[in-house]
Amino acid sequence: MNRKIGIAMHGGAGTILKSQMNPEKEAMYTDALKEAVLAGEAILLKNGLAVDAVEAVVRKLEDNPLFNAGKGSVFTHDGKNEMDASIMDGKTLKAGAVTGVTHVRNPVNLARAVMDHTEHVFLSGSGAVDFARAMGIPLETDEYFYVQYRYDQLKRARESDTIVLDHTAIKDIDEKKFGTVGAVALDVFGNVAAATSTGGMTNKKHGRIGDSPIIGAGTYANNKTCAISCTGHGEFFIRSVVAYDISCLMEYKGLTLKEACNYVVKDKLKKLGGEGGLIAIDTHGNIEMPFNTEGMYRASKHGEDELVTGIY
Ligand code: ASP
Repeated sequence: MNRKIGIAMHGGAGTILKSQMNPEKEAMYTDALKEAVLAGEAILLKNGLAVDAVEAVVRKLEDNPLFNAGKGSVFTHDGKNEMDASIMDGKTLKAGAVTGVTHVRNPVNLARAVMDHTEHVFLSGSGAVDFARAMGIPLETDEYFYVQYRYDQLKRARESDTIVLDHTAIKDIDEKKFGTVGAVALDVFGNVAAATSTGGMTNKKHGRIGDSPIIGAGTYANNKTCAISCTGHGEFFIRSVVAYDISCLMEYKGLTLKEACNYVVKDKLKKLGGEGGLIAIDTHGNIEMPFNTEGMYRASKHGEDELVTGIY
């Protein structure tokens, strides 16, 4: 039990242009990333479980309106917030996920409750919200989720008739490009886990489901291989079954984490036209954070190594 712990997180990928950044903004993102990673690391340092660490990191980011998850979620075409989240424990291969949920303050906690307290994996819409109520998981009003710049993003997306990744600039007006959030971790017992949470894509159709809550597409964890959380244009990640593909390339083909990640993100996905990236950790604590967009908000911490953050 003297393995090295490790944790990594993302806050979304997309057209994050250096030219649109300033030192204050950059510091704001970096501080939020650091704070979240340290919250996860603190759990792992106390011999906590990887699954608890990823849940805590994602929850923290859901509460931060800078990110497109929980408070700060983007709007659907109809002006609603429909959120998706998932979590998976690599030790048991148990998973929980929710899609199209409204008013739930922390969708990742709801996904965890689905995993821990039902015989199901995936709940949707009003059924998921009813379950949240039954479990005493906090719900919030529409006002809690209303963030003005998100609504402005929707108006611009509607005008240009596009469905956009939250961090993709629409013309030159969108300065605030924050994204979907996710975390992966390795605990002292050698368990890996992954969690992802999102408001999806701005101007998405009512009922649209992205990759984030789909086990195998946006989230996957397996103690035989690795844990993965994705961010990007969900439709392409679903079609490419990205997270499971990486695990399979390691399990069946013997690729390293790095080889599998680079092949899937920079070759397969790219050829298909899928923009985005992911974070991954294997059971040795190797961490990969590849993306094929201009940037991806990311941070990681491995053992006693320095905390690493990055945007571009
Ligand atoms: N993957 C998410 C989705 O398609 C969006 C994102 O990563 O920002 O819903």
